[in-house]
Amino acid sequence: MASVSLSSIRKSFGTVEVLHGIDLEIEKGEFVVFVGPSGCGKSTMLRLIAGLEEITSGTLQIDGEKANDIPPGERGIAMVFQSYALYPHMTVFQNMAFGLEMAGMARDEIDRRVRKSAHMLQLTDYLERYPRNLSGGQRQRVAIGRAVTRDPKVFLFDEPLSNLDAALRVATRIEIANLKEQMPDSTMIYVTHDQVEAMTLADRIVVFNSGHIEQIGTPLELYDRPRNLFVAKFIGSPEMNILQGSLKMEGAAPFLKMDEAALQLPQGAILKPSMAGRPLMVGIRPEHVRLSDPASARLSGKVLFSEKLGELTNLHLAIDKGAEVAFIAKLPDLVDVRRGEQVHLTFNDDKLHYFDADGLALS
Ligand code: ADP
Ligand code: MG
Repeated sequence: MASVSLSSIRKSFGTVEVLHGIDLEIEKGEFVVFVGPSGCGKSTMLRLIAGLEEITSGTLQIDGEKANDIPPGERGIAMVFQSYALYPHMTVFQNMAFGLEMAGMARDEIDRRVRKSAHMLQLTDYLERYPRNLSGGQRQRVAIGRAVTRDPKVFLFDEPLSNLDAALRVATRIEIANLKEQMPDSTMIYVTHDQVEAMTLADRIVVFNSGHIEQIGTPLELYDRPRNLFVAKFIGSPEMNILQGSLKMEGAAPFLKMDEAALQLPQGAILKPSMAGRPLMVGIRPEHVRLSDPASARLSGKVLFSEKLGELTNLHLAIDKGAEVAFIAKLPDLVDVRRGEQVHLTFNDDKLHYFDADGLALS
């Protein structure tokens, strides 16, 4: 299996540059997930690695060897798309065997590889079926199985589960996690817009935005220590609450001064008296907010509406006194509060995030 190295990769379509110098080192055996808003260049990046598009400038290395000019079929890469593109008139076995037959592989080797890959993806009982007699999840497993039979150095997945309904998505995600465990040396690059897929599958997540990389890190690094406001809001659901104001000091005690409201902040290494008067954004994730009694409340607000999701409740709030911000508290269990009701909130100081006026995290 192989490492993949991207160095100053740029891609233009005509005069429009859509990737602006991508640097990324992917280790052999790593599972790397690309996330980012629609149109930010994730699919284009995969297509450049696969050789389906030409790299405008920069260097792609696969296993330490420059690969910019290697034809797609010789890169040792298999790509799985959102649409599974199975041949309807072929059985599952034939679909999985077809590429190997085209490559002139011996019959018994084809048979061995198809059966092994079918076993990994729990498709053994379906080998004689036609795609029309399979569920969406099973079809996508066949498409993945077809990639596995080719024994590629690198797997590329472009939103492979987004055509599936919620239940099949979960089941197929677990199959992909199992596949990774059974093929620990395979390098996998996986594009998704699904938070749960990204957090559960990735060794590392790469956050793309408008053709550049915002941050690279393990799922927990991105969740706990987002480098900037974009990553802070992109990772996590519902997105991080952001309170805006300026940093004030009363002696050594810092607080965020919002229009008419104030939020006491912890004294510590991050907020220094020298920063007093500067604009500041304070972030707190909805799942880190708790209800409190009025006396110990850090913030209070009025309930705009509550989403009862069974195991948890999302309270959408208007924070008191002029700070015109949407604020969400994600509370465990069912919480019985009515629209318009006043609620009191608290959170632990170590869950707060601070950003400067440019959206860069303070640390
Ligand atoms: P993503 O997969 O992150 O949603 P894409 O990589 O598909 O984004 O697209 C990135 C940008 O490149 C978009 O602005 C898209 O319109 C543009 N783009 C992609 N493919 C082509 C193409 N073949 N010709 C012109 N523009 C393209
Ligand atoms: Mg895409």
